[in-house]
This record gives sequence, C-alpha cells and structure tokens, in this order.
Amino acid sequence: MKLNELKPGRSAVIEEVGGSGALRQHFLDMGVIPGTEVTVIKLAPMGDPMELRIHGYELTLRLADAEKISVSPVDRKAAEQEKKLQRSPEHPGLGEEGRFHPKGSGDPLPDGTKLTFALVGNQNSGKTTLFNQLTGSNQHVGNFPGVTVDRKDGVIRGHSDTLVTDLPGIYSMSPYSSEELVSRDFVFREHPKAIINIVDATNIERNLYLTMQLLEMNIPMVVALNMMDELRGNGGTVDVNAMEAMLGVPVVPISAAKNEGVDELVRHAIHVARYQEKPLEQDFCGVEDHGGAVHRALHAVSHLIEDHAERAGLPVRFSASKLIVGDPLLEEQLELDQNEKEMLEHLVLQLEKERGMDRSASIADMRFAFIRKVCDASVIRPKESRERLRSEKIDRIVTGRHTAIPFFILIMGAVFFLTFFLIGPFFQDLLQGGIDALKEGAGRAMEAVHVNAAIRSLVLDGIFEGVGTVVSFLPIIVILFFFLSLLEDSGYIARVAFVMDKLLRRIGLSGRSIVPMLIGFGCTVPAVMSTRTLPSARDRRMTILLTPFMSCTAKMPIYGFFVYAFFPRFGWLIITGLYLLGILTGIAVALLFKNTLFKGEAVPFVMELPNYRFPSPRNVALLLWEKSKDFLRRAFSVILIATIVVWFLKSFNFSLNLVTDSHESILAAAAGLLAPLMAPVGLGDWRIVTSLISGFMAKESVVSVMETLFGGGLASLGTVTAASMLVFSLLYTPCVAAIAAIRREMGRKWALGVVLWQCALAWIAALIVRLIGLLF
Ligand code: GDP
Ligand code: MG
Repeated sequence: MKLNELKPGRSAVIEEVGGSGALRQHFLDMGVIPGTEVTVIKLAPMGDPMELRIHGYELTLRLADAEKISVSPVDRKAAEQEKKLQRSPEHPGLGEEGRFHPKGSGDPLPDGTKLTFALVGNQNSGKTTLFNQLTGSNQHVGNFPGVTVDRKDGVIRGHSDTLVTDLPGIYSMSPYSSEELVSRDFVFREHPKAIINIVDATNIERNLYLTMQLLEMNIPMVVALNMMDELRGNGGTVDVNAMEAMLGVPVVPISAAKNEGVDELVRHAIHVARYQEKPLEQDFCGVEDHGGAVHRALHAVSHLIEDHAERAGLPVRFSASKLIVGDPLLEEQLELDQNEKEMLEHLVLQLEKERGMDRSASIADMRFAFIRKVCDASVIRPKESRERLRSEKIDRIVTGRHTAIPFFILIMGAVFFLTFFLIGPFFQDLLQGGIDALKEGAGRAMEAVHVNAAIRSLVLDGIFEGVGTVVSFLPIIVILFFFLSLLEDSGYIARVAFVMDKLLRRIGLSGRSIVPMLIGFGCTVPAVMSTRTLPSARDRRMTILLTPFMSCTAKMPIYGFFVYAFFPRFGWLIITGLYLLGILTGIAVALLFKNTLFKGEAVPFVMELPNYRFPSPRNVALLLWEKSKDFLRRAFSVILIATIVVWFLKSFNFSLNLVTDSHESILAAAAGLLAPLMAPVGLGDWRIVTSLISGFMAKESVVSVMETLFGGGLASLGTVTAASMLVFSLLYTPCVAAIAAIRREMGRKWALGVVLWQCALAWIAALIVRLIGLLF
C-alpha cells in the first residue's frame, strides 16, 4: 500500500521511495528509506499534509508526496526499546573530556594562523544558541526550522585568533533549498580549518546522517552533542567514548542553552584545528551488510578515481559516494575519461543489482545502517521524552481536527488586539507625547535664539513631524515582534504552517508563507524580513510580492478619516470590506503570478515539527533589542532623508524662496504634473496627488497632508471620489520603508517594479470603483 493510505496511529515499514530528483534525494536524506519504520501521527485539520514519526522525530509530508512511497503495515514492535534500556548507562558529565581522542601529537599550524570554524548542523539543532554562547553575540534564535538563513561570523570569546561562522541548517550535503547551498558552499569553497558539527542528542539518528557526510569531507571536525540536558533529564544518555571511537572524531556533550560543556568544546575544536586532525574513520560501509555490495562498490570506485581526486584536490571518499549517486558536475571536475565513466556506471549497475535498491537509496541506507550501529553501541534512549509527551498533548488542541483553526484565530486575534489596541497604543501615545514635548521645546529654543524660519520649519515640520511619526510606531513594532518571537520560539509557528499548508497550496505557496502574510497586517517591513525563513527563492519572492496586499496598520488612519467624513453609517462594513478586498486582490495576484512570473510548484512541504520549548527570556530580550536598533537606524537614515526631501519640495518654489502657501511649492507643481494621470480615476486634484505622494513616505501622512491642504473643504470631493481614494490607498505602492526592505531582499529592480506595478493595479481598481460609482 501507499503511505498516504496508512491510517493515523498505524505504523508501517517503507518498501520503496518513488519520485525523482532533488525531492527524492531529500526524502532519503531525511531518513525516508526502504526498511525504515514510520508511524502516521495525524492529518492536518484540512486533511493534508500528514504528520509522521520517523527515526524518532516528527516530519510533515503532503499526501501527494506520500503517495510516492510504498509501505507494508506492521504491528508496533515494543520489545527492542525494552532491551536497550537494560544496559547500564554510563553517564557522561556535560563537557566531559573525550578519553578516546588522542591529543597533542603532530605538527601544529604556525602560530598566528587564523583558525576558522564552520558551525554546521541540522535545522533547530541549536547552532545559533551555541554561536551566541561562543561569541557572546546575540543572533536571532528560533524554534522554527530555518531561522538562520544568512551566515554570521564571530570571534570565539577569549580566542582572538579564531572565527566561527553560523550557517543555515542543513540535513545533508546535497542541499535541497537555496539557503542550504550557503552552508555547503561555505564548507567547500572557504575551506574552514575545522568543522564544529552540532548534533541534537534528542534526535540523534537523523542528525548523524549529516555527520557521516561531513566526515567524508576529510576536514578536521568535532561533534558537539547538544541538548544533553534534555536527553539526560529524560533518563537517556550517550556513551561518548564509544561514539568517539566509532566516528573517529572528538565528541563533546554540551548544552548550548545552559552554557554547559562549551569550554571543553572550544578546547577540542581549537586543538583539532591547530593540529589539523582529520577524522580517523571514513569507512562506514559494512563488509558484511547485504553481501557487502555497497562496500565493494564504494571501494572499487574510490580506487578508480583516487588519482583524479588527488589532482583535483577533492576528498576521495566524498567523491566516490557522490559519483555513485550521480553527479555530472563532479565527473567533470575529476576529469574522468570515457572508459572510466563506463567502468563507474558498470560498478553502480552491479551495486544496484546486488543490493536490490537503486543507487541513491543504497548509499542512504548504508549510512543509516552505520548510524544504527553507532546508536546501538552508544546511545541509551529515554523511554519517552517528557518534552515529546508535552508536545503531543499541546498538539491535540493546537493541530487538532476541530480545534486547530479556532485556536489559530484566537491566538492571532489576541496578538493583534494586544499589539494594536491595548499595549501598543498606550506606549505609542507615551512616546508621541515625549516627541511632542521635545518638539515644543526645540521650537521655543529656536525661537529664542532667532533661528532662520526655513531651518525652523525644517526641524519642526520636517524632522519632528516626519521622523517623529515614524519613530512613534516603534512600540507597536517591538510589541508585535515580541509576540511573534514568543510564538516562533515556542514552536507554534511551525504548526501554523502545518495547518495552513493546504489553503496556501491552492495559490501556489506552501504553509510556511502564512507567517509573513500575518505579520503583513501589522507592518510590511517586518513581514518582508520574515520571508527569510522560507525554503526557496521562488516562494520567498512570491510571498514578498503578496505581503503588501495585507493592509498594514498605517492605513487604518486613512480608512478612519474617510469613513468618518463620508460613510459614517457603514463604517465597519467598509473597513472590513477593504481588508477583504486586500486579501482577495492578494489571492488573485498570487494566482496570476503562479501562472506567469513564478511558474512551477511551491517547494514540497517537508518540514520538521520541533518539540515545543519554553522561549528563553534572554533570547527574546536580545531579539527585541536588535529589532529596535534596526528600526531606529532606518528611521534616522532612509526615512530622515526622505522626509527632508519632501519637506524641501513642499516648502520652496522653483526660485528657491520659502513659500507661505504650499500651493506655490515645487511639490504642488510636480503634483500638478501627475494630476492629469490621476484625473481619469477622479483623483486629479493636486492636493490629493500631494497627499498620496507623501503617503509614499508613510501612509499615515496621507491624512495629515489632506487635512492641512483641504482645511474644511473636504466635503466637496464627493462620495465617489472618496471611494476610489480608499481603494487606491489600499492598493498603491507600499511606503518607502517597505520598499527599502523589499530592495534589501530582492534587489533594486524588483523594488522599483513593486512601486510601478502596485500603482498601476491601484489605478485600475480605483477606475473600476469610479465607473461603478458613476452608474448610481
Ligand atoms: P538553529 O536552528 O540550529 O540555529 O537552532 P537555535 O539555536 O535557533 O535553537 C533551536 C531551539 O533549541 C531554540 O528553541 C533553543 O532555545 C533550543 N535549544 C538550543 N540549545 C539547547 C540546549 O542545549 N538545550 C535545550 N533544552 N534547548 C536548546
Ligand atoms: Mg539558527
């Protein structure tokens, strides 16, 4: 039968993994290989995707992908676990020195050589937490697969001649998403002096898969066995010396979160780097496994290419297993001639025949077989982990069939209510009060010393009004980030992605895209930034282009202003309608993009569901500090400059004299140029154009500009104009801060494209509104 037909709660053994290419390799690398037992935990509330347990961790898989996997059902086998628990555990202390690892021989690198380390490991294994401990820096830590998507460098505290690089999490050396490439390329191209391989001890089988591939690279390495606190708390343990002996590299049990064992880790890491101690073992293929088919093939290929690998400067064992799986690029690099290529193919065909499995699966299976041996000899697993049980309990509600969506709405509602209505405005008022007081003080001070009127106007109307308004949003943004980071660090957001995947799939995205969209209702800037967690460039770009349609809070004042003036009786209806219109436009745009700009499928939704963990206050505090700094830096650079420019344009005429009536300003003249363009949609008044232009700086300013330019004469506009103004404001270009964020993520061309395309879209929508309005 197929995996998608397996009922929740039932287990089965995988017989065959179908599919092809990168996705199939990804399955294999995640441990979905023939002979492995899987248990279906549940289906998402909408019936797709499914949650599986494999190798002791939780994985999500879409039904369409599960259909490619054949399984045969089994009755759960419980005996094996019981047997393992009977071995008497030898507890390692956290940070126990490896007794196996022979130290202090060989010739060290010359003094003063910079020791570079790559921090490599699975997603969510605690790399960033360890990096922060090593360097004392404060990178963002999250309990969501893929939070680190850029590499970050730092010097190990107390060792000035070192440099550690925190890399995005990877599951194998055949990267699956574009961000994973960053990690692999780093190891390949930058030749770090040593690798610190961080392994999640609570999830050891899957984590060691990457370790095996790293060992083949023949680079000095230490294994940091992280989360030992959790493993030991549940009664499990690892025989570190046995593991070291089998892997041939130092293994140091640590707890990055509690900063235990980190000093020992640093000692070992520096030692292997300085003495360039390569892994002692690489030969993991069992001589007797399945008649030694894989073993013989690997060795035959190794001998075949030995000389080529040496010439090309590539590790032999790594090249051999890569060639068996098939890698045309590598074949070229190695300069194999036709004869050798044919020999290679014959060897591989023989392997497939003897092993009864295709090439990729047999290599993956060989690795997992060795991992099983290592774990049997050195790991005592806890019967059931408390964290696991707790997560299961929480998930009964959070991803339960009937409760998941109400719970999601409740949580999101609470977050937005607290942020935008309760806590946020309170602090915003406080801050605004402070800024106003400062402005008044500055005004009086300048008056007292007779500062030039133009300068005074710049400081008061330009900087204090413009930058001040933006800065007053700081509390809201910080609070929103506070809640989102709580949700993320706890592991909830991964569940949201799981629950929402089916809906988003319809518009060509995957469950992961829901996060930026939700944040978009708050502010497009953090929303765009949060797309960095998406696994493919295609999904990321598409999501970035959609977030502006989730109406941000800065547009609220515009809606309120017009609704109050023109449609007082239907206020809430119209505002809700606008939000819905934004979402619907987003969906329509997504469907359009899906069939044009971003053809092809969203990345298959294969994601790990981590255990729920208590967010660490330190991590959250550090994150908020980082966000605030980032925000303020932007407010006082891009936004300050933009504000000064607009102030200048609206305060001076072409002969550079200060104008008393902004009617005569450069801005009015420029807006007048644009007015004919806006006339067809009924927004041709230069004052409207001006307010829309200033809305590009910050949406809130649309209202303030209209107020000053129109005074009491607003009613003359009429309801049709008001309606098209509302729709235009909803859809037209995001503000300059958002555009700057988009530019940072996608580049200048895309950012400019967003401005133009959204203006065009808004124009068309406003025209439709006007035409409909004129019918009545
Ligand atoms: P990364 O994705 O590999 O960078 O992982 P992170 O550093 O973001 O950590 C993932 C999660 O594991 C976070 O919730 C951390 O708080 C948690 N974590 C990291 N190290 C430890 C540890 O040693 N013990 C425990 N119990 N939790 C940890
Ligand atoms: Mg990280």
